[in-house]
Amino acid sequence: MRRISVPNRSGPAVFDGHNDILFELDRAGGPPVADRFLTGLHTHIDLPKARAGGLGGGLFAIFVPSDTGLDQDDGMRQAAYDLPLPDPVPQAQALSTVLRQAAILFRLEELGALTLCRSVADIRAAMASGQIAAVMHIEGAEAIDPDLHALDLLYRAGLRSLGPVWSRPTIFGEGVPFRFPSDGDTGGGLTEAGIRLVKRCNALRILVDVSHLNMAGFWDVAKHSDAPIVATHSNAHAMTPHARNLTDAQLETIAASDGMVGLNFAAAFLRPDGRMVDTGLDDMLRHLDHLLEKLGETRVGLGSDFDGATIPSAIGSAAGLPVLRQAMADHGFGDDLIERICHGNWLRVLEKTWGQ
Ligand code: ZN
Repeated sequence: MRRISVPNRSGPAVFDGHNDILFELDRAGGPPVADRFLTGLHTHIDLPKARAGGLGGGLFAIFVPSDTGLDQDDGMRQAAYDLPLPDPVPQAQALSTVLRQAAILFRLEELGALTLCRSVADIRAAMASGQIAAVMHIEGAEAIDPDLHALDLLYRAGLRSLGPVWSRPTIFGEGVPFRFPSDGDTGGGLTEAGIRLVKRCNALRILVDVSHLNMAGFWDVAKHSDAPIVATHSNAHAMTPHARNLTDAQLETIAASDGMVGLNFAAAFLRPDGRMVDTGLDDMLRHLDHLLEKLGETRVGLGSDFDGATIPSAIGSAAGLPVLRQAMADHGFGDDLIERICHGNWLRVLEKTWGQ
């Protein structure tokens, strides 16, 4: 198999909690066009950009779009909003999309663009060899049946992280709407099937991501999960009162579980006014300061939402990650803390969650 190294010339490599490049490659034509990742795409992540920015790996989300074609980013450019959630997606439709995006991930590995990692040992080995360390994640569990047979199958295919919902409802629970200003107290929590899903994920040691759950679902995960609580791509409600962001009470519960939060680069979750329009790095630092205050230095990482949101133009893409490293240094973060935020905390929490 061809190996392509990702040299890290700009400080610690970034292991990132969330990207949507598999969905973007799916939209661009699916597995047959996966090789475009090697040469460059109009996306936040491709191999040249990962190489330039020192992106060492991350959770690669599989995302099932709705038929409606609603553009959340467009709706969130207004001053205040409460966007209607799309209708649920039937399981068969979701499963075929999940299989196709998983096939893109496998194709990228065949091409030598990344290594699919099933353990932290895999991640460390890939990053040390200069390979992108990719972890399979599904954002919304529509593809999984109530008996969880598809979960067992996906686990054996490499799935190591899962969100019970994207914001749209599933048989497992309700997600949080794109609403500003608002908190996440917007509906019911996990269903019986959702509680079974969390417990089966615990047994298989699959990470349960709370990022798109509403507040009731969050508290249900806190009650029923025996793993550290992780929000892969969420920010602080105290800084930006968006329904997608986490309140201080939620952050304190995450800290008590020794979990973590990945800072989301999406402008709407960073800006004080909740608008999905360009914003500066000062907003990212404001959220990082608050997350560090509430969670401590071992429980904060990055969760870029690359290829899933409007991100600060000062970063622009994975190639711009050195700008963020420099901003953290200029803000007074020491080398150790920057390394923890860039990847150390993710590896720590994944090791605790997966047990290896
Ligand atoms: Zn998301």
